[in-house]
Amino acid sequence: MLAAMSHAAASPALLRASSIPAIRAVTDAWRREGRTIGFVPTMGALHRGHGALVAAAARACDRVVASVFVNPTQFGPAEDLSRYPRDLEGDARLLAEHGCHALFTTTPEEMYPPGFATWVTVDGLTEGLCGASRPGHFRGVTTVVAKLLAIVGPTDAYFGEKDRQQLQVLRRLVLDLDLPVRVHGCPTVREPDGLALSSRNAYLAPEERLRARALSQGLRDARAAWSGGLTDPAALAALVRGRLDAAGAAVDYVEVVDLATLRPLPPGAPAGEDTLIAVAARVGATRLIDNHRLGDPFPRATAGEGP
Ligand code: AMP
Repeated sequence: MLAAMSHAAASPALLRASSIPAIRAVTDAWRREGRTIGFVPTMGALHRGHGALVAAAARACDRVVASVFVNPTQFGPAEDLSRYPRDLEGDARLLAEHGCHALFTTTPEEMYPPGFATWVTVDGLTEGLCGASRPGHFRGVTTVVAKLLAIVGPTDAYFGEKDRQQLQVLRRLVLDLDLPVRVHGCPTVREPDGLALSSRNAYLAPEERLRARALSQGLRDARAAWSGGLTDPAALAALVRGRLDAAGAAVDYVEVVDLATLRPLPPGAPAGEDTLIAVAARVGATRLIDNHRLGDPFPRATAGEGP
């Protein structure tokens, strides 16, 4: 149930807890010692984006817990649950290298035992963007994150801006349920050519991987145009769509929304710093998402941006 693994000399030994009682024993002891606990929930197949969340938690907290759980309730019936990439040993190495102290893994049977009947939903923020194209997705996310927070009991939880709608929804959840945890959003980690790191990038064939640059290229174009004075939401969205169309990516949505509400800007309102451009598109069979808040810097591509 509980095992410790030692990695590079500078890294802490990684405790591995593979049941709810096992991780509770670990975090209960840390709380009794008065330690702050940073928590990073994931679905595994970890990459440098996840590593950055763990590193942020390790800088700010006494102890860091990461969970790896491919949560079935956030996948639709036609989605990629059964083929979602899994690599627990690689995940454990990456976590240890980034300063994680404990890895919590569990099973769908332990998280959703027979008779399970309680769901957590957040209204409003979950209705547009990915909520519109993935019915039931956010109900699965908010339910599993509420459970994970109850199980681990962290002082701080870390989520990526890559999944900006999820981050906003989870901030709302924590606020509305008075959960005693601070929520931190961390900037999107990108490949040198701009593509946002994602576990699902592993699905892309080499030629699709090149076409997938269109999401970040479109956001970068829109950001540059906005910096140059273009504030019309429809015109900004058209720039992103242009890149996606040119790359033969199938657009799910390109939306220019207010960051706080995730609703489209009212007619005539100019895009400002707290405007978010959010995009979802399919490259081949792989659905990818990305977003940019206009007030944030958009990293320059340092390699292979292409035309
Ligand atoms: P996932 O394993 O895809 O469910 O993601 C777990 C956490 O990692 C979520 O909070 C994501 O937003 C975050 N994450 C995923 N990709 C990135 C990235 N490229 N940069 C920063 N955070 C990320």
